[in-house]
Amino acid sequence: MSTPVNLDTIRRVPKVLLHDHLDGGLRPQTVIDLARDAGYSGLPATDPGALEEWFAEAADSGSLERYLETFSHTVAVMQTREGLFRVAAECAEDLAADGVVYAEVRYAPELSQERGLSLDEIVQAILDGFREGERRAAAAGKRIRVGALLCAMRQNAMAGEIANLAVRYRDAGVVGFDIAGPEAGYPPTRNLDAFEYLRQQNAHFTIHAGEAFGLPSIWEAIQHCGAERLGHGVRIVDDIKVEEDGTAQLGRLAAYVRDRRIPLEMCPSSNLQTGAAPSLEEHPIGLLSRLRFRVTVNTDNRLMSHCTLSSEFAELHRTFGYGWQDMRWFTINAMKSAFIGFDERLEFINEVIKPAYDQLIP
Ligand SMILES: [Zn+2]
Repeated sequence: MSTPVNLDTIRRVPKVLLHDHLDGGLRPQTVIDLARDAGYSGLPATDPGALEEWFAEAADSGSLERYLETFSHTVAVMQTREGLFRVAAECAEDLAADGVVYAEVRYAPELSQERGLSLDEIVQAILDGFREGERRAAAAGKRIRVGALLCAMRQNAMAGEIANLAVRYRDAGVVGFDIAGPEAGYPPTRNLDAFEYLRQQNAHFTIHAGEAFGLPSIWEAIQHCGAERLGHGVRIVDDIKVEEDGTAQLGRLAAYVRDRRIPLEMCPSSNLQTGAAPSLEEHPIGLLSRLRFRVTVNTDNRLMSHCTLSSEFAELHRTFGYGWQDMRWFTINAMKSAFIGFDERLEFINEVIKPAYDQLIP
């Protein structure tokens, strides 16, 4: 008898997460505790249930201002070593409890400098937190490995410094680099120096591109900057023409992305909140998966989108009918696209992922 696909069973299979923001995944109670410790009085609610609701509602409101306000509260409580350590440890624990076996979690260290922490102290606190979370997960019988991606914010001018930081910590748990923040008005090429430096250092990076903004942003990220993966990349569908009979014509850029197996870090729930897709039914993940792009499924901001990687898969199952075979494909896609070494990726695929899915797929 085949195992039914539901939230419960999905939580139990190994999953891989490549796009998750540390400041978008705090536990509501932790936000409250850390705000109290820091003397931060700006929270819109002090009851964890009410605060959780406020985050989801503000992120859902359709207003970019209110969406961004949610991050002002999480970042406000991530200004101390203890705060960063706790948030990172709980992130690893929560992902492990959800069945994630490998994750790359990103954060912009420059956001945590309000109280005088140095960039090195910030990165170290986060890496220590991830190690602690991995230990706690192991004690609870869950295996997880968490790597850090360091983000630079597009609107600031620190990409060079952050890229350098990512290279310096690459043997200590930082697996790559990313740029985040507003896409419109800040094309990826603004930070070209940082990407050229990273390439010269044989370092890995992904770029948030093609979320709100269209094809030029994706094209620049890949052909000028040399991005190995695309954060979101949903707008690549603008270069695909679907005929009445369902056949698809790929433009040059879409064909390049598919042919070169450039991974798309898709975050369905988040895209609905920011308006990058009108509904899950119409989300480009359906078409792109059908056309066999290198699609991966991700959470983006678990607190704001009120989701887990398992709940994202459960929604996709409900909407597109994806079963274990599809989940196995998404998971192996993600593991192949991770920034850790080939031998380690292969071990996860052969020793952890395939054996678990083989039991579910007759
Ligand atoms: Zn993101």
